[in-house]
Amino acid sequence: MREYCDSAVLNPVENMIELWALALRSIEASLGGDQWELWLRPIECVSVGEGRIRLKAPNRYHQEWFADNYLPTILQDMEARAQQRFAVEFELDDPEPPVSSTQARAPAAARAAETGGSPPASLNSRYTFEAFVVGPNNHFTHGAARRVASEPGSMNPLFIHGGVGLGKTHLLHAVGWEIWRRHPDWRIVCLSSEQFVIEFIGAMTGGRRGGSVALMERFRARYREEPDVLLIDDVQFLSNKDSSQDEFFHTFNALHLAHKQIVLTCDKLPSELPGLEERIRSRFAWGVTTTIDIPDLETRAAILKRKALQERFVLPDDVAQIIARHVTSNVRELEGALLRLIARASIEGRVVTPALAEDTVRSLLASAPASLTIETILREVAGYYGVRLHDLKGPKRHRAVSRPRMVAMYLARRLTGTSFPEIGSRVGGKDHSTVISAVKKIEHLLATDAALRDEVAALESLLQRRH
Ligand code: ADP
Ligand code: MG
Repeated sequence: MREYCDSAVLNPVENMIELWALALRSIEASLGGDQWELWLRPIECVSVGEGRIRLKAPNRYHQEWFADNYLPTILQDMEARAQQRFAVEFELDDPEPPVSSTQARAPAAARAAETGGSPPASLNSRYTFEAFVVGPNNHFTHGAARRVASEPGSMNPLFIHGGVGLGKTHLLHAVGWEIWRRHPDWRIVCLSSEQFVIEFIGAMTGGRRGGSVALMERFRARYREEPDVLLIDDVQFLSNKDSSQDEFFHTFNALHLAHKQIVLTCDKLPSELPGLEERIRSRFAWGVTTTIDIPDLETRAAILKRKALQERFVLPDDVAQIIARHVTSNVRELEGALLRLIARASIEGRVVTPALAEDTVRSLLASAPASLTIETILREVAGYYGVRLHDLKGPKRHRAVSRPRMVAMYLARRLTGTSFPEIGSRVGGKDHSTVISAVKKIEHLLATDAALRDEVAALESLLQRRH
């Protein structure tokens, strides 16, 4: 009240706008700096007067978030100071309407036809914002990802941190899809830091054609000059890789300087990454760092129901609760349990009952996949498809062998997390690029090929049971 009275000598408009500044200042202390930067700074107060406040938000999404989360407190403060009530009106910098739900659900190819651009091949079509369930564990990260997607360059870089299987890659790709939807002509580059390192080393050591100078030039153009957006997954792979870190540092700087949005994901915080140069660590801290936590029970159940619907499967509440109560560690395992349950129900021709769910979950928890080796996966896959282990590891290219081989590589990557070169060497000395394209191909097919999904679910289930 006192500040308001003191400034009553100013002209009325300034005076009223000051009310806004005072209210913001009073909540600033209770918010983290990131939240302030993210959600409050971009809101502009256009005018205050005659019982109205006009605010300007960067876009509709920002407006809604702000109105839900911060406006009530600010308004309360302003109304208390002014001893009057205010109606709030918004105007938008970017008045583009939010995506309609039909458009949001359209497959990538259909959306490409609308916009004229081809969808970025490196993005998984299932990892969109629409398919992402928001809960207290990822609320802030989701908000930051949305913000970056609607205003690329606004927080640079966005560093998403969180444990395994909690949705980092999903959000990273969702940012890519949303930016692509808004800017179909932009070049959106998405890859893991491991792929970056592999390509860099490939360029440095020189290829069969062209020599290493030309390769290096092409590599630098591809990552330093061409991207409008760079999405790098799992930057922890950069730890202890000195020359690649150096290259990454320059890539980062070039893009950052050009105000190109960079999003990074990592299973550790920058401060916890061993063998990361200080200058890179400090670059990561230039933007905003957010953390995804383990989802709570309610969010886990909501995720299960959403995933089940994606599989065109209606999951009864009590069954969702059973799985959500038992599988607590991460979303990937939650999904695994659901797929196993669906596969069991369809293979055994049974209805999904709470009892079947209990049983599935129990057998899953009893198994300890930790000691799973690539050799075991290869044997199991060979047995399942009825091909010889020798052929699976060999060079034969016909479909009867090549598809099981790709599945084995995919499972090896997914279940053991082994590096691509290592998997390649275990599968009869294949090149890492063969492994990368096999894993991508299977991930891609899984989105559309129900038979393949069943095969993979059945194999995972077998492998869990063996170990
Ligand atoms: P990370 O990269 O953190 O290891 P992913 O992004 O690969 O995890 O997520 C693992 C799986 O869990 C993916 O299939 C993803 O779609 C799913 N997932 C994670 N979080 C959510 C969420 N909040 N809503 C829907 N699906 C989620
Ligand atoms: Mg990931």
